[in-house]
Amino acid sequence: MRVAIVGSGIVGAWIAFELSARHRITIVDAAPQAGAGASGRSFGWINHIHCDPEGESAEFDRRLAARDRFDRMNDRLGGALFAAGSGSLVWGVTDGATEAMANPHLARGAPSRLIGRDEIERIAPHVAGPPALALHSPRDVALSAGFAAGLMAQAAAENGARMLMGHTVLGVEVAQGRATGLRLAETVIAADVVVLAAGTNIPRLLPDPGALRIGSSPAGLVRLAATGPAPAVILDTPKVEIRPAGPGYWLSAVDLDGSGPQMSLDDIAARVRADAIALMPGLRDLRVTATAAAARPMPQGGLIAGPVPGVEGLFAAVSHPGVINAPFLSDRIAALLDS
Ligand SMILES: Cc1cc2nc3c(=O)[nH]c(=O)nc-3n(C[C@H](O)[C@H](O)[C@H](O)COP(=O)(O)OP(=O)(O)OC[C@H]3O[C@@H](n4cnc5c(N)ncnc54)[C@H](O)[C@@H]3O)c2cc1C
Repeated sequence: MRVAIVGSGIVGAWIAFELSARHRITIVDAAPQAGAGASGRSFGWINHIHCDPEGESAEFDRRLAARDRFDRMNDRLGGALFAAGSGSLVWGVTDGATEAMANPHLARGAPSRLIGRDEIERIAPHVAGPPALALHSPRDVALSAGFAAGLMAQAAAENGARMLMGHTVLGVEVAQGRATGLRLAETVIAADVVVLAAGTNIPRLLPDPGALRIGSSPAGLVRLAATGPAPAVILDTPKVEIRPAGPGYWLSAVDLDGSGPQMSLDDIAARVRADAIALMPGLRDLRVTATAAAARPMPQGGLIAGPVPGVEGLFAAVSHPGVINAPFLSDRIAALLDS
């Protein structure tokens, strides 16, 4: 089957790689390289803690299963996605808050443990003033989702997928209620099936823009560099969410959705730097090297992976959190296309 995929972020690239062994794939992306959208600005943390195990039961189960899926993809890509899971340490403003946050996760079988100060100091020896209690999730991992998308797109291309980078899709071609291809400025790409994996841009590509409800939420990524001893673990504290990103580099993610103080991204980055120094005073010369903002796609219900109502052969795949859910979006689209 000829499958045209719009978007080579983590979602489109995962689907393309998965389908490329048995379908004729064309990936079209407006950006010059794969993974340059929200995926390229993602914190990329495969975690269960930012999910409500009781209120979001299906999402919680996916999050617990995600690490195995990323391990398998890592194996298929020769171990290039990540070297080893760093694990995470999470704590709240008080020990009581940490317990209240952790207990529903532990009750649902999360592979995590509440640990005391001695163990925290062993796992994160360079954290100043560690709390008496933290949730340790040794299986957590974080990866560069943009880089991952690039690897998967490349693997799809090696399987025969055609990559059209730097080409903006203007719309979906529809004839007699069926998707027949993609409309670009200079040409039309004929396809039997079209998959929209264009993140926040999906609504603009729908023949009926109201067919799916997909909002967006801004977030920022702060990149820091430093020398000196620091823990090799993802840290989520009341002040700062920060993780190692290769020797000498750190990444921090911030919400820009207006829920916090109204500040510019540069001011927020300066605050992140100050909080990171307070947390890890051993880091010498800690400096902000880059900041980037991106819109995160926020589909109604958290996840859309299926047919677009009203148009045969047209599918959409989008989720929040899109990195964690990319394998499951890909599973659903593959199952629908293969059935
Ligand atoms: C700061 C930050 C931190 C985050 N942290 C996490 C996290 O810890 N864990 C997690 O799971 N998620 C996290 N997310 C969310 C996650 O990054 C996104 O959900 C995910 O990357 C979305 O992937 P995607 O492939 O759907 O979209 P994108 O990566 O945005 O890809 C869409 C692609 O479609 C292309 N495109 C759009 N319109 C067109 C068009 N008309 N023609 C051609 N191409 C088009 C774009 O160029 C882009 O490459 C974070 C996001 C941000 C910004």
